[in-house]
Amino acid sequence: MYDYDVLVVGSANVDLVIGVERRPGAGETVLGSDLAVHPGGKGANQAVAAARLGARTALLARVGDDANGRLLLESQRNAGVDTEGVLVGGAPTGVALITVDPSGDNSIVVSPGANGQLTPEDVRSAGPLLQASRVVSAQLEIPLESVVEVVRQLPSGTRFVLNPSPPRALPAEVLAACDPLIVNEHEARVILGGESIGDDPAAWVRELLASGPKSVVVTLGSEGALVASAEEEAVRVASVKVDAVDTTGAGDSFTAALAWKLGAGASLAEAAAYAARVGAVAVTRRGAQESFPTAEEVEAL
Ligand code: ADP
Repeated sequence: MYDYDVLVVGSANVDLVIGVERRPGAGETVLGSDLAVHPGGKGANQAVAAARLGARTALLARVGDDANGRLLLESQRNAGVDTEGVLVGGAPTGVALITVDPSGDNSIVVSPGANGQLTPEDVRSAGPLLQASRVVSAQLEIPLESVVEVVRQLPSGTRFVLNPSPPRALPAEVLAACDPLIVNEHEARVILGGESIGDDPAAWVRELLASGPKSVVVTLGSEGALVASAEEEAVRVASVKVDAVDTTGAGDSFTAALAWKLGAGASLAEAAAYAARVGAVAVTRRGAQESFPTAEEVEAL
């Protein structure tokens, strides 16, 4: 009865990456490596991750009427994502300018561009897409008002999953809709309002649950994840031991896999165990979207 297993509402960016020996100071020019151009943005990443696993996936996003926007549309379609909901125009496509130094540290400047123009009105206009989707997955690289509007427009049978990244304080209305709220350590600290929350992830889960979500997932990198809901005690989900080479996109692939499995009827713990396998494959490969596995590759792990 649903046309889509997962609708991702979120950002689409082009990542422009240059390797540098060192970063330029003010007024200085340095030479870097050849330019690498990658499709990115948390929304676009999650949509590709879900589609590659075999989920029927749609993306609600906004890109510019420019070459970067066309690149993003093409990469979504190549992954099998339905792009009917990708709006075009209003501002240039979002761009992340990334320099990587020899130690592997990134410096990133983001121009949100068209992502910042995905308005509550756009969300209202996408009502039929929301109605057609079993699970809606969002992040915070689009205006918060638009995420609020997603929650307001959510059909009663549709599940809402939120990764609040980049993290900020959330309205009670949004928190109450999350099933689950998915956070890493940094996001947990910001959502809980500061550094004073201690070092026990089980305590974060309890505090996050008390703030309103129906369920919570705290991802812990190579330590796996903790999941809990109002009805179920916190459960630890083990990570899969792998040789990690690049953790970019691990959280996005984890969230997409979790959303898909929850929609298919898995329990939170079952869905998180599957998502941990997806994240584990993703960290064994470089890049974000390039690193996301197919269902067969997850099985083979
Ligand atoms: P984020 O990318 O948002 O910071 P995490 O780093 O916590 O998110 O990763 C998300 C999930 O991906 C983890 O919960 C885990 O299941 C998996 N994962 C991440 N890093 C590793 C790793 N080094 N080894 C195995 N699994 C990993």
